[in-house]
Amino acid sequence: MPTPNQIAIERDVSALPVFSDHEHHLPDGFFSEGLSLEKCLARSYVDWTGFAPKGTASSRASFLDNVRFNSYYVWFERGFQAMHGVTEPITVERWDVLSELLRQHHAVDPDLHWKALLRGGYERLIQDAYWNPGDDMGHPEAFVPTLRIDKFLYGYHPDQVAPDDIYPWKHYGFEGGSLDDYVALMRETIIQRHASGLVAALKCAEAYNRGLDLGEDDRAAAEAAFGRRPEIVSPEARRLFSNYIFHRCCELAIELNVPFQIHTGLANLSGSNPMHLIPILERYPLARFVLFHTGYPWTAEAAGLAHNYMNVYPSLTWTATICTSAAMRALHDLIEVSCSINRITWGSDCWVPEESLGALLAWRFIVSRVLAERVDDGRLRPGDVETLAEKLMYGNGRAIYGLPPR
Ligand SMILES: [Zn+2]
Repeated sequence: MPTPNQIAIERDVSALPVFSDHEHHLPDGFFSEGLSLEKCLARSYVDWTGFAPKGTASSRASFLDNVRFNSYYVWFERGFQAMHGVTEPITVERWDVLSELLRQHHAVDPDLHWKALLRGGYERLIQDAYWNPGDDMGHPEAFVPTLRIDKFLYGYHPDQVAPDDIYPWKHYGFEGGSLDDYVALMRETIIQRHASGLVAALKCAEAYNRGLDLGEDDRAAAEAAFGRRPEIVSPEARRLFSNYIFHRCCELAIELNVPFQIHTGLANLSGSNPMHLIPILERYPLARFVLFHTGYPWTAEAAGLAHNYMNVYPSLTWTATICTSAAMRALHDLIEVSCSINRITWGSDCWVPEESLGALLAWRFIVSRVLAERVDDGRLRPGDVETLAEKLMYGNGRAIYGLPPR
């Protein structure tokens, strides 16, 4: 049973606006093309469990049997209910009715997919459209783009493809030249977009494709790889080339005074422990490194980094829905050890509004429970709850990403 403090704090926290530091919200077309519950779930983290409903009663039953206590599913269902005004759970019996309701709501209002975020409490969302880096999805009222720099890390040759089938030379209009010319084009591209207000942050999610062993900055190795055909460039040479470009991005983040968001944890687990970033954190004291996902499952390591390094900004983006219990423990830790309380942020990290709204409910749950526990055990004065809640829900995000205070 919630304590009186939990109830009161949850009510106050739920009334606050919410700033999200990270989303992958899908383009308009996805929502207008005959959406269904199955299609919506396929673009949620529930799909990452490996279980998916396949349009039959038996596959839906098996899906629910396997995943319905999983954190992703619990918050997806709550977001779905909140967005579509239903209180009953998703069951095999109700599946078709609920799916049709979802389809109709999106069909009647093609703007529902982003307006529902604002109605649900989001005031601003940093958008990472990795399929078209820097896109604000045509909805600047809601989204501020971050610029995913990953594609540049693959540009040692025109035939080298980056994730999402993007060829960096072609995509960014590089027609050949030296390594310095390539870096100059990258800088010019990012600087121009920043001047147009389209770069709230730089973002790197390469932990999905390689380790976070980004420390060496070897210009000779990068030059040796540059211009060589992909089939004759070794994995180690590619790693060093991508390191070299990553270091130039760190310099640019400092120059432009924008945060540099870095995916840590999960992804490629053998190399995604945030501790691998220590050489980078030490080399660029003036950068602001936002360590995404608090390095889950290495949340204690991320808290240690936030304790030791002034340039670490720990973000519970996605952590809240990966594992709500771990996120609560991590938030307690970060409140206690982070160099500054003003560096802790959160985002939903989702593709569809049903899940983004569920994630927001998760974050409200986490913040109110953690603050209430601290009031109940005497570590937080009741009079400080409002100040701390405002920082966590929107104040820190606004300040870090350059929006004026409310
Ligand atoms: Zn993400």
